[in-house]
Amino acid sequence: MNAPPTRSIANTTFLSPPSEEGCPWHWPTLRTDLHTAPDRYTARTLWNPLYGLPGWTRDCGRRFHHGCDIAAWETRPTGQIIDVVMTDCRNGTDIPISVPGVFPVDSVAAVTEGRVSEVTTLPDQSILGRHVIIEHIWPISGRVFFTLYAHLDAITVMPGQWISAGQSIGTMGTTSASADARRWMAVAPHLHFEVFNEEGRPYDPYRLLVHFIPFSRR
Ligand SMILES: [Zn+2]
Repeated sequence: MNAPPTRSIANTTFLSPPSEEGCPWHWPTLRTDLHTAPDRYTARTLWNPLYGLPGWTRDCGRRFHHGCDIAAWETRPTGQIIDVVMTDCRNGTDIPISVPGVFPVDSVAAVTEGRVSEVTTLPDQSILGRHVIIEHIWPISGRVFFTLYAHLDAITVMPGQWISAGQSIGTMGTTSASADARRWMAVAPHLHFEVFNEEGRPYDPYRLLVHFIPFSRR
């Protein structure tokens, strides 16, 4: 088992998908509508519809998002009212809103088989909150890559544990060191999901999910 590489925020492009690899993948959450309803697959806001997508989508296109924010399929109300400031990217104005908070209840699954490389159980140690990193091997090249599942509530796996494709690793949550991020997640709960290579360079997670989970296998 390898420790995951350091991921750098200086990475601002995605690697080409390793299309020659043939491994089957499993959806990481209950949501399976990326092929048919990509608008619903991603957590986003009315004012900044690009926010949860991979790539140059953060801070109205000024900051690179290394993963994707997969919207919760099922939520329950928290009973709290959340104050959050959204930016309307069409004109740059900030819009303070107060909306009922919700909490995601989806189970989170490993997309393909691998070994748990890192488990962070402290909810506020990093902006990723509680998270799991799994090490995988591409079947043809034999090279190592990693998947990352962030902002979890519960984690049900241990470092070093072997995980099969589709095996549950925990439940979606709203954990992060950033209070702003926690407020955003209480309004738009999601799984932050990343895929990166042995050097920590990211792949576009949506291109890999679409490629390795063909529509016919839904
Ligand atoms: Zn994210």
